[in-house]
Amino acid sequence: MKDINEEVLRVLITEEQIDARCKELASQIEADYENKNPLLLCLINGSLPFLGNLIKYIRIPMEYDCIRVHSYQGQSSTGNVIVENYNFDKLKGRHIILIEDIIDTGLTLHTLKQMLKSIPIGSVEICSLLNKPGLNQIDVGAKYIGFEIPSEFVIGFGLDYNEQYRNLPYIGIMNPKAIK
Ligand code: 5GP
Repeated sequence: MKDINEEVLRVLITEEQIDARCKELASQIEADYENKNPLLLCLINGSLPFLGNLIKYIRIPMEYDCIRVHSYQGQSSTGNVIVENYNFDKLKGRHIILIEDIIDTGLTLHTLKQMLKSIPIGSVEICSLLNKPGLNQIDVGAKYIGFEIPSEFVIGFGLDYNEQYRNLPYIGIMNPKAIK
């Protein structure tokens, strides 16, 4: 059996650490969104495991929806953010929390926030599991961040390398030998 865990150089954030942080983020969201019925808008595919883990701990009324956004190929951003057909009308008047797996250049969330400017929404905030700060990062004003990480390419917990490794339960750094 080929075990994908063997293609991880080292674990950066464990499953237990992710779970504990999701609980903390959930209680912040509960405090900030009481009586607001927030809509958690999950950027798929990468953010699905994060959304799933986070919402288990949110006890206030809320809804979620998914939006398909992509810009990455292999290990780098194409610089071209594509939002697949989404009916933005249903966001009207809603308090939206964008659920993202990782902020790298910030381009994806910046583009999405720009798109939302043309819609009369209630409010928008960002909740990202990871933040990879760098010199070229656009400040997207993320309110909820799980972990700050160094500038390395990470996989697991929804994050992929060419669509693989999303099923790892932790965040890890890929073994360069596994890079094709
Ligand atoms: P940004 O637009 O902020 O540069 O990048 C956001 C998207 O790029 C993320 O949603 C994710 O799909 C991808 N990305 C950025 N850094 C990494 C990384 O270290 N690992 C993986 N697997 N994807 C990344």
